[in-house]
Amino acid sequence: MRQIGEHAVVIGASMGGLLAARALADFFEKVTVLERDVFPLADVPRKGVPQGRHAHGLLARGRDVIEKLFPGWTDEVVACGGARGDIADDAYWIGHGVTLKTAPSDMVGLLASRPVLEGHVRRRLLALPNVSAIERCAVHGLVANDERSAIKGVRAKVGNGVEQSIIADLVVDASGLGSVSPAWLEGFGFRRPEEERIEIGIGYTTRIYRRRPSDLGGKLAVVVAGSGPNWRNGAVLFQTEDRWIVSIGGYFGDHAPDDNQMFAAYARSLPTPEIHDIVTRAEPLTDFFSYRYPANLRRRYERLARFPKGYLVFGDALCSFNPVYGQGMTVAAQEAALLQECLRDGDADLARRFFNKTKAAIDTPWDIAVGNDLRHPQVQGPRPAKVRFINWYIGKLHMAAQHDTALGNAFLQVANLQASPTRLLHPVVVMQVIRGNLSRRLRRSREATQAGARA
Ligand SMILES: Cc1cc2nc3c(=O)[nH]c(=O)nc-3n(C[C@H](O)[C@H](O)[C@H](O)COP(=O)(O)OP(=O)(O)OC[C@H]3O[C@@H](n4cnc5c(N)ncnc54)[C@H](O)[C@@H]3O)c2cc1C
Repeated sequence: MRQIGEHAVVIGASMGGLLAARALADFFEKVTVLERDVFPLADVPRKGVPQGRHAHGLLARGRDVIEKLFPGWTDEVVACGGARGDIADDAYWIGHGVTLKTAPSDMVGLLASRPVLEGHVRRRLLALPNVSAIERCAVHGLVANDERSAIKGVRAKVGNGVEQSIIADLVVDASGLGSVSPAWLEGFGFRRPEEERIEIGIGYTTRIYRRRPSDLGGKLAVVVAGSGPNWRNGAVLFQTEDRWIVSIGGYFGDHAPDDNQMFAAYARSLPTPEIHDIVTRAEPLTDFFSYRYPANLRRRYERLARFPKGYLVFGDALCSFNPVYGQGMTVAAQEAALLQECLRDGDADLARRFFNKTKAAIDTPWDIAVGNDLRHPQVQGPRPAKVRFINWYIGKLHMAAQHDTALGNAFLQVANLQASPTRLLHPVVVMQVIRGNLSRRLRRSREATQAGARA
């Protein structure tokens, strides 16, 4: 591999930072990951990743990319209790109030708790001879060259020690949604990136339940993406052979209460009975945990005319979306693959090339997540004709896809970031959508006529 530099530093050792470090390890003599937390001895949630207590699944595209970065990784997670699953055939997907009809596919996702997924990536990463991590290391700022045109390292404190400089040829900020990069860069005379912020006020309430293999008829997951008129979301995901994780919630304060009966009543209000069945019949194994997710947030670094050499922003620090479609880790994995592609061509103009490539990779999941959010009447944001048309069309596609496996699978290919959204606008797919909606209308009017005749 082409050697780009001696030392690369990554801020944050969650999924984004770990995958970024894996990409860098092929191009730098030494890679150091700086993490504010202490890594837990067992794969359990930690303070710096509070979303780790809530339902997480890895989409097919994310699993494929991580498997390429760490061959054999999927098997390792499965050997420790996770499950590989056919995204289409092993899960119920509910959107626009209907369940997609699906058929076996080649989309293989991975189910395990978020800490297990991260723990396995971390161990594989830290087994590489040129990668190390410093725990209890909080980064407080950046070090720039005298001209303030390039970043040369970070200022960090390890434990209760004094602040020190850690010098590097490249620094990658993977510190998550709360990234301070805009302010740090402003301090060196750069402009802040434009931020697109779409407020949704989502809250999830989560609990773990005992799983019996016969639950859900043997399926491994139920995913409900809220859509008008019922905007409540939810997921039941396989965690281990004997554990389900259930996360349910809604927009703008319509959050599920952390009380047995009220939680069950909330689950009953979802547009499918499976989550309620689990919540009322399975044995709870933990307390409730809550998580608030205020807004989708995208930082448009690719639009900046000036950006320092030796610095990149990665993962949720770059863009974070409504988690309902479970895309964040997959996008981080795609960014790692794109970072490798960029580094293969050297480090000249690296930031511009990386931000342009990731822009294209982020556009699709952003449009999927934010596009659906913009259907919600309280969500503020631009709704040009294209967004209104796509939202209308995706609704019609769902109506037809409740009876058509080809349409159900086509939608999941796009939602799993394995196919471009334009695939859903292919004339063959459009015809299937029209035919499906016409037969639905015919079926409805036939049923109405029969009911009228009986009355
Ligand atoms: C409720 C919920 C459910 C989700 N479900 C899914 C799902 O099903 N599938 C999916 O793919 N994605 C899901 N996501 C998204 C996913 O969690 C993130 O996209 C993923 O964790 C990648 O984030 P990251 O590593 O960029 O940032 P984070 O996970 O936020 O990690 C940031 C890391 O940086 C460290 N850090 C922060 N500041 C500093 C500092 N100054 N110095 C040193 N270290 C620092 C933190 O301790 C932490 O370890 C979900 C998100 C939420 C909120």
